[in-house]
Amino acid sequence: MTASTLQPISQAGAPDAVPRSRVPPALAMTGIRHAYGPVQAVDGVDVSVAPGEVVCLLGPSGCGKTTILRLAAGLEDIQEGEVALDGQRVAGGGANLAPEKRGVGLVFQDYALFPHLDVLGNVTFGLTGWPTGDRIARGVEVLEMVGLEDMAKAFPHELSGGQQQRVALARALAPKPRVVLLDEPYSGLDARLRDRVRDEVLHILKSSGSACLMVTHDSEEAMFMADRIAVMRDGRIVQQGSPAELYCAPADAFVAAFFGEVNLIEGQVEGDSVKTLAGTVAANGLADGTPVSVVIRPEGVRIQILSDGFTRDPCGEVEQARLLGRTSLIHLTMRGDGARLGETLHLHARVPGVFLPRPGTRVRVSVDPGQTFVFPAGGPK
Ligand code: ATP
Repeated sequence: MTASTLQPISQAGAPDAVPRSRVPPALAMTGIRHAYGPVQAVDGVDVSVAPGEVVCLLGPSGCGKTTILRLAAGLEDIQEGEVALDGQRVAGGGANLAPEKRGVGLVFQDYALFPHLDVLGNVTFGLTGWPTGDRIARGVEVLEMVGLEDMAKAFPHELSGGQQQRVALARALAPKPRVVLLDEPYSGLDARLRDRVRDEVLHILKSSGSACLMVTHDSEEAMFMADRIAVMRDGRIVQQGSPAELYCAPADAFVAAFFGEVNLIEGQVEGDSVKTLAGTVAANGLADGTPVSVVIRPEGVRIQILSDGFTRDPCGEVEQARLLGRTSLIHLTMRGDGARLGETLHLHARVPGVFLPRPGTRVRVSVDPGQTFVFPAGGPK
């Protein structure tokens, strides 16, 4: 199959000839299944990216993220499902367009720069057919975007790993691709540089209008970059939505825990609530008697130092308090009544700023319902 035999799919059409709502996605992947021998790496995935949108595939190692990116790029032959770019089928259903003809910018973990070309040569390599002056101007422009304009004449072996990664990013963005695929693009950068580079990349993507499908296992990175996040587990998307939707309404304990450490308490619905040592929480419609997992984010645990001994709220004792920078993490012990809620509960509370009560300090504990989730027990965690 060649570029001249691209197959239009149902929504195909020139973007400016149709209402915006009917503009086809820049990238659409439907019904994707992919196995490596006995390993079912991707098990029925539908994902699309609108023009100008940044979508992150977020999930633990081995859940199939990179395979999806490789299939989108054409680096892996499709087994089941279809890939379409701007409404044109490029893989599946009889189509198989070569990677270099897809007009897609790629930055993979194992970004390979050409060792015999200097930085400018690497960045302008894909600008075939551009007049020489325009090629160089565009090369310098993208090097400025990633802060490497002074390194234009350097060779890859003279660069640090982080600098090489930025050159790879610049190379991918130089041809102004309609779709950019990024696989853990900041993994080789130290924390400060990563913050700067990802901020720049986000601005570059948004100003270029390129659609971006990005892979990461770092939820903070996904929330920073993405308009939409698809959380994956075992080759499937378990939930997708805006960062706020996923954070505020996770589908299960696994999704909740992917957005930061959580307190997990096993319990049982009594009437329409669940009693825990940290307080009573609404059962969210689960039936009386249902065994449940209660998930409480540390930032949803509120604590107040007790000035006197008496309180009707659950009481805890500070074990340790650590300053983590913008927040303080308090390790608490809650002791039960020796009967039904008899066991000891260890709880983490995260509070803004510097809050470092001494070990042994008694505190009143309550939980924020907006940061507390109740799921049937036994689900994925
Ligand atoms: P990571 O975050 O570690 O890169 P991932 O979510 O990107 O992981 P994939 O690289 O897509 O996951 O791998 C999904 C599954 O497929 C894993 O079990 C992996 O071991 C397996 N796999 C990936 N590539 C191959 C291959 N070329 N041959 C055999 N198995 C493979």
